Amino acid sequence: MTIQFDGDFSMTIGGLSVESEARIAVLNPANEEVVGYAPDISRLQFDDAVAAARAAFLVWRQTPLNERRKAVECFASIIAEHSDELSHLFTLEQGRPLDKARTEVDTSAFWASAIAAQEIPVRLLEDNETNRTEIRHIPIGVVGAIVPWNFPLMLGIWKISAALLTGNTIIVKPSPFTPLCMLKLGELMRDKLPKGVFNVISGSDQVGPWMTEHPGIDKISFTGSSATGRHVMSSASGNLKRLTLELGGNDAAIVLSDVDVDAVAEQLFWGAFGNTGQVCVAIKRLYVHADVYDAVARALVGIAQRVKVGDGLEQGSDIGPVQNKLQFERLKQIIDNAKSQGLAFLTGGKVPEGKGYFLPVSIVDNPPEDSEIVATEQFGPILPMLKFHNVNDVIFRANNSAYGLGASIWTRDEALGLEIASQIEAGMVGVNQPPSAGPDRPFNGVKQSGLGAENGEDGLLSYTNLQTISLRKAAQG
Ligand code: NAD
Repeated sequence: MTIQFDGDFSMTIGGLSVESEARIAVLNPANEEVVGYAPDISRLQFDDAVAAARAAFLVWRQTPLNERRKAVECFASIIAEHSDELSHLFTLEQGRPLDKARTEVDTSAFWASAIAAQEIPVRLLEDNETNRTEIRHIPIGVVGAIVPWNFPLMLGIWKISAALLTGNTIIVKPSPFTPLCMLKLGELMRDKLPKGVFNVISGSDQVGPWMTEHPGIDKISFTGSSATGRHVMSSASGNLKRLTLELGGNDAAIVLSDVDVDAVAEQLFWGAFGNTGQVCVAIKRLYVHADVYDAVARALVGIAQRVKVGDGLEQGSDIGPVQNKLQFERLKQIIDNAKSQGLAFLTGGKVPEGKGYFLPVSIVDNPPEDSEIVATEQFGPILPMLKFHNVNDVIFRANNSAYGLGASIWTRDEALGLEIASQIEAGMVGVNQPPSAGPDRPFNGVKQSGLGAENGEDGLLSYTNLQTISLRKAAQG
């Protein structure tokens, strides 16, 4: 059966295609036209999804690891096989330029394949004449995965791959702003897995709380804002759900006076403005030593003037629109507030007329540390550039935040870079590179940027419970 990528968006519940009476219109952020309609799941359908995942868990947890590996590998091959169609649909619903949409699609396939190859360790504690004791990692049950709109496919794949490999079943809920690629992934995988192992639902604002409260769900893996993360944590307490929370950030980049400005400027620029600044580990506060402040500012403004902000399907677009109207309005307000505070823009700051949620790359010149643009996660193409004179002072300022997701240090003095990195309160710190992510290493925030980790052995095992099995040998003799 041929799958259409330009319509027929249905949920996958218990291996079946499920539509709803109510629907959500998904808009293209580049022109505000409808890309497609996603089902808005009813409460009864949601309960069906939980029941299907629970029933499937009883079999899936007994399924040999090698078969579960093959299932996760199958996600990789199916995504790779449909990379063209998924990338096009991704740009339509998310807004990101097509080549960069394809990078997310291809990276999702890579990630699934890498997680499929991971081991679930069994630790032998003792094995002697009288006792044998081993510590295992057993599946938790039904995982509820809640995904945001900034990386709608890849962040879902992190959760799906780890949950299914470790023997859980899963219900995935994408953001109502970007549900379409995930719904299609559900359709593509529908006949590839036992019914109920992988369920994809879509719905509006009430569905997240249904998931976090439901007694039939055993773990929530949530990626989204810290504000929502706090709701998730309290509403998940009813049955003491296991939680992974990947939340917001306000990452500092610290640029020391010895940098080669031309060598680092591109990396700083894309570290801040890639995906229209809508990256949890984007640079959101750029601290630059006074000696190189003007040179870095000139270099960044030069790049900003060269890049094209435009429709992701147009040839040559480097930066797409802001993903949704809510976020667009929020960012316009931040720009207005900055202007009314009398802050100066090194570039940008003017919102264009017309259709689509487009904002220019905007850099604010040395705003006060307590201004909104510095103190909050802006999550868009607006960057505060801040001057510092002394390393201890900048470490204090970088750490003076409720967030602790990522950070980066830029210097030719590697020893000093590593020393500063060790003093930064963040889960991931890059020296002369952005915070690094990969299937083999934990992705996590500290403080109010999260709880637990995705990826690496720590992330994988967060989809398991510990079980100690101890045998008393010859006890019957
Ligand atoms: P959001 O918190 O508004 O929404 C995230 C998801 O939660 C969506 O699927 C949404 O429908 C759902 N949701 C909304 N209310 C809910 C509730 N009460 N209970 C349960 N679920 C609910 O976040 P967003 O605006 O989609 O994403 C942007 C945020 O995500 C930013 O703060 C960004 O930093 C963060 N983020 C973090 C990471 C990370 O790994 N740390 C990665 C990407 C994005």
